[in-house]
Amino acid sequence: MKKIYLKKGRDESVRRFHPWVFSGAVAQTVGNPVEGDVVAVYSAEGEYLACGHWQIGSISVRILSFDADPLSPSFWEDTLSAALAARKAMGLTDSDRTSCYRLVHGEGDGLPGLIIDYYDGVCVLQAHSVGMFRAKNQICEALRKIYGDSLKAVYDKSSGTAPFKAGLELVDGYLWQAPGFEAGEQVVLENGHKFLVNWTEGQKTGFFLDQRENRALVERYARGRNVLNLFCYTGGFSVYALGGGALHVDSVDSSAKAMAMVDRNIALNGFTSSQHTSFCADAIEHLAAVEDGKYDLIIVDPPAFAKHRGALKNALRAYQRLNARAIEKVAPGGFVFTFSCSQVVDKEDFALAVFSAAASTGRRVRILDRLNQPADHAVNIYHPEGEYLKGLLLYVE
Ligand code: SAH
Repeated sequence: MKKIYLKKGRDESVRRFHPWVFSGAVAQTVGNPVEGDVVAVYSAEGEYLACGHWQIGSISVRILSFDADPLSPSFWEDTLSAALAARKAMGLTDSDRTSCYRLVHGEGDGLPGLIIDYYDGVCVLQAHSVGMFRAKNQICEALRKIYGDSLKAVYDKSSGTAPFKAGLELVDGYLWQAPGFEAGEQVVLENGHKFLVNWTEGQKTGFFLDQRENRALVERYARGRNVLNLFCYTGGFSVYALGGGALHVDSVDSSAKAMAMVDRNIALNGFTSSQHTSFCADAIEHLAAVEDGKYDLIIVDPPAFAKHRGALKNALRAYQRLNARAIEKVAPGGFVFTFSCSQVVDKEDFALAVFSAAASTGRRVRILDRLNQPADHAVNIYHPEGEYLKGLLLYVE
């Protein structure tokens, strides 16, 4: 087996089950591993610790197993079964109101570099590492075993996420389809609402499953309100708001493809154009032109403003400006649901940016709730970096 030896004293984080070995901790490699190979990790004293995918960059190994003999033939099946058992325990697999969930959330499910979203029988896989990309066919086989006849298809959507390396053919496509499966989009249920999901044309795996619980909260607060849904993508929050009895919802996104899906999702759930208006526009400019007090519930769910640490300062300023506008515009007695999905912006940073935003408006603002990612976007207790979605529910006087 290919091996790496750690520098003396650098084994501690592995012993504490942190799933990454940084390049600075590696003393020596044995057997010339190439990117994506499974390597065994040894301490400087020669003790076997773990094994994982070798990669080039600041992270050298992403750990798959802390046990001996990790790549037993049933490794993928065992690990994916455990992920499915956890979703079952969360009440997501047998629900007649929800037919989509995240099956694998990277490190949170012990599979660093792998995302799998489940859309009513269709698994959409995104590899974020060469190792996971190279394992995709084994992963597909294991999915077929754990889901059996209920599986309709497995789609690989790694071209935008797997690091490009010579020799990797990054073309998205089906790894497997059940006989009679019709490729394309699918209607899924989320808390009883219907959504069209198109994994080939859509962003990420097709739908933002991470907002499921926060959408349900919007539904609870929407009755009788005029709602503005900024950065709406395919209209998740909009459908829930209407379901909760909102008077009217305006949805804004800069993607024309997303806005076309919003209109279809609104119709699919039986709402009419008198209840909803779509705007294909820049959300920040759109908000700037909104008259004060027009909306009494505003949702602000922008894309990640900071993709890496270096962008943190500018991102915080952008969150502050955007939130100041939303707080300034919302009607007295109104709600602002505000989010950040930037992993490098932690809860405290985000709360501070929103605090500064509120202070700049001079309005009285209460925090009614602190929001985060749902259970199926699991966080490994040994890898707190897996927490990325955070939000605040504000009540503005
Ligand atoms: N709230 C959505 C997810 C938002 S993802 C949901 O529940 O599904 C972020 C969205 O912001 C994407 O749909 C992207 O198209 C959109 N976007 C990015 N920059 C934008 C901008 N400047 N103005 C409006 N929309 C933008």
